[in-house]
Amino acid sequence: MVVDNKLKSIDFIQKTVILIFIVGKTIRKINLRPAKKMSPGEVVESERFLVSRLNKAEDTIVQVGSSSIGGNNFTMIAGPCAVESADQLQKTARWVKEQGAHLLRGGIFKARTSPYSFQGLGREGLEYLCQARTEFSLPIVTEALAPAQVHELLPRVDMLQVGSRNMQNFALLDEIGRVKKPVLLKRGMMATLDEFLAAAEYIYSKGNHQIVLCERGIRTFETAARNTLDLTAIPILKERTHLPVIVDPSHATGNRRWVIPLAKAALAVGAHGVMVEVHPAPDKAFSDGEQSLDFNEFKELMAELNKLLLVR
Ligand code: PEP
Ligand code: MN
Repeated sequence: MVVDNKLKSIDFIQKTVILIFIVGKTIRKINLRPAKKMSPGEVVESERFLVSRLNKAEDTIVQVGSSSIGGNNFTMIAGPCAVESADQLQKTARWVKEQGAHLLRGGIFKARTSPYSFQGLGREGLEYLCQARTEFSLPIVTEALAPAQVHELLPRVDMLQVGSRNMQNFALLDEIGRVKKPVLLKRGMMATLDEFLAAAEYIYSKGNHQIVLCERGIRTFETAARNTLDLTAIPILKERTHLPVIVDPSHATGNRRWVIPLAKAALAVGAHGVMVEVHPAPDKAFSDGEQSLDFNEFKELMAELNKLLLVR
């Protein structure tokens, strides 16, 4: 009986020693993992994303019509905030094309803060966009606000835009993920870079890999400008994702006087392109006139950027 108890206690000690050994090894293993930022949790998560550089080292090039966005290319997207008339769009498209823009932008479904503001021309505006596309051989990009609009725009446009206010509209992201169409995903005005990458992951993981990210300014305590352009985001995003990253200095500043200097800064920090709002008569624009460049200012912007591109 005494021998039996002794045997039992030896067995118990052996088991305890083995257990301590296993637990110790596991803790050591955990500690040996490469150091990762402790919070927020998504930092670790986004490293496992398909859009992460760790998943794909080489830059993704997004082909929109004849334009390649990403890599060593610098892409200019220009056009009015909103399509207002055939004449306004045609004049703008002709001018930006002559000055060297690669893509024509123009909203036909507008996500306005107030329901009483101009909401866009809808289908009529789409016709004007398509006419300009043909007449000036410019690929067109316009915003879809809802899944049904994705399908309406799909056969007619070259690139779909997801606006800042919709960056976390998951039904829209899912739908855009299921189609084969380049997408310009704008950063939410309150979104962290992890949330931005997670929004891109929604689209990418559904099968649509043609995503261009767009930094367009975020809300901060500063009220001197419409938003604060987060230029820090450009090198960080380029490190963290293989997707192209462009900058929209129009919505970032809300004031046309600051658009040219910030577009130059965007190029300097390594953005793959710039998107700006241009209007034939900004003071008469239905939306975002204060931040829209007139034709001469757009010409000046192109000249300034071309100078920098020569020495890049
Ligand atoms: C736009 O590009 O016209 C627009 C509405 O931008 P954002 O979604 O960045 O406000
Ligand atoms: Mn606008």
